[in-house]
Amino acid sequence: MRGLMMDRPLLISSIIDYAAESYPHREVVSKRVEGDLHRYSYPQMRARIVQLAHGLEKKLGVRLDDRIGTIAWNGYRHMELYYAISGIGAICHTMNPRLHREQVTYIVNHAADRFLFIDLTFLPLVEALIEQFPKLEGVVVMTNRAHMPAESRIRDGAGKQLLCYEEILAGEATDRVWPEFDERQAAGLCYTSGTTGNPKGVLYSHRSNLLHAFSILSQGSLKLGQTSQVLPVVPLFHVNAWGLPYTGPLSGTNIVFPGPALDGASLFDLMVQEKVTSAWGVPTVWLGLLAEFDKRQQAPDCLQEVIIGGSAPARAMVEAFELTWKIDVTHGWGMTEMSPVGTLGNLPSHYAGKPVNERIDYKIRQGRRMFGVEMKLVDETGQRQPHDGKSQGELLVRGAAVTSGYYNDPAANAVAFDDEGWFRTGDMATISQDGYLDIVDRAKDIIKSGGEWISSIDLENAAMGHPDVQEAAVIGLPHPKWDERPLLVIVPKAGQTPDPQSIQDYLAAKVAKWWLPDDIVFVADMPHSATGKLQKVKLREQFKDHRLPSG
Ligand code: ADP
Repeated sequence: MRGLMMDRPLLISSIIDYAAESYPHREVVSKRVEGDLHRYSYPQMRARIVQLAHGLEKKLGVRLDDRIGTIAWNGYRHMELYYAISGIGAICHTMNPRLHREQVTYIVNHAADRFLFIDLTFLPLVEALIEQFPKLEGVVVMTNRAHMPAESRIRDGAGKQLLCYEEILAGEATDRVWPEFDERQAAGLCYTSGTTGNPKGVLYSHRSNLLHAFSILSQGSLKLGQTSQVLPVVPLFHVNAWGLPYTGPLSGTNIVFPGPALDGASLFDLMVQEKVTSAWGVPTVWLGLLAEFDKRQQAPDCLQEVIIGGSAPARAMVEAFELTWKIDVTHGWGMTEMSPVGTLGNLPSHYAGKPVNERIDYKIRQGRRMFGVEMKLVDETGQRQPHDGKSQGELLVRGAAVTSGYYNDPAANAVAFDDEGWFRTGDMATISQDGYLDIVDRAKDIIKSGGEWISSIDLENAAMGHPDVQEAAVIGLPHPKWDERPLLVIVPKAGQTPDPQSIQDYLAAKVAKWWLPDDIVFVADMPHSATGKLQKVKLREQFKDHRLPSG
């Protein structure tokens, strides 16, 4: 027998309606590309979203299923696009501007975007590529008439429209009843960065985005609510800014968008100015912020928590936040394919009174699964491994906010799932009895030495604790006897020239002897991906001819 409850669709438009009504005094504040600070309330945001939705339909002829691309920083106009595009049943396709040009070209054409909405910053990028986008009808610059470029190749040469964002909204009605459609309608599209091969498109639905947002909020450990100010450094252009465009308005938090200025000093000043309580981002960004704390010998008083994800933070980073600066760390793990949050590291309640070291031990792990995410570990033959905190295996997941197949990509889909339909994450992990996930490494980065595994993540994060080390990376190099042995690559802190032996001695106290790197090299900087992660592929290429002393 079916339940007798109303079958109302879970639609994204309902979130902004709710926030405008329930949190009329809460605000969205944005550092603009134009240089100033913009602020407005949720009702004002909703009014502009409605205007934009009307403008999209009437002035651009946007219809159900159309893909509309965005290349933009974190700001209110970008968030308006999230809601206006999906609100009328079209698909908000966010794009990472830091990708290679060939990847941007591939993505725009693979998605068959009709229009691109871009921040002024990205006009040169789009102008350079415009001839490569045969299906694109036009480019909308996210600014007002006064800041529109006087001249552009887009208008002059390439036969596409060049439009002004504010003119799409101008004159449109500020209220509407949103259209209703199936909650499984696609709402957003985001391509994985794809370190090898072409990027792959993950197509989110209204239902999956809402369920994902509810799961995050039901965790209860995050300080999101009517007394919080949250700063998403994690970009709107990738992985839905970890769901904040939805959880923010649902919880009534103020959102403080940093725009393009993501250096430590700019973030620090914005935090103080807007009394930011909670800040979300990848470890690379926090390295810059922590350096700024050191420089000023203080952290912003208002800052209560940082959320770290995207790659594993070094223990030294978690200790700096928690012990030196008394700022709570929540560590999470996820993937584009998971909307993106899979686990969050809230401490079990009985850990509250434990010694600080034990609490940090927990915090550097990836946390417990979100409601709605199921996890299993399998060995190379597909056999399930126990969740005992010791057995390693590849992590597979399933859930209502996990992809069921990449967008128009049969080759990728043929290998992305196991026979039971679970999604292969490509991460090697252990899971403890109490459900704590520990990501050991990416399957392709783990170092196989003498039939055993060395976690490149653990080794580099141990090295990051050394006082002279700014950043560390570990790659496996071929070895005649052991198969592979670790090479440690280090960027020293400014003005430091660390002694390799002091690093070996430091590591010897932290890791097993056979984990110690066979060689240490120093470099001025490290290759990072478009999402701020170490690019091991590039490092392996750079050091492919490096000979280990032992080899
Ligand atoms: P990309 O950066 O390639 O677009 P994602 O942003 O989806 O891809 O990255 C997902 C991957 O990032 C995960 O499979 C995992 O390897 C890594 N990752 C994410 N969060 C963490 C974390 N907290 N600890 C370790 N690895 C992480």
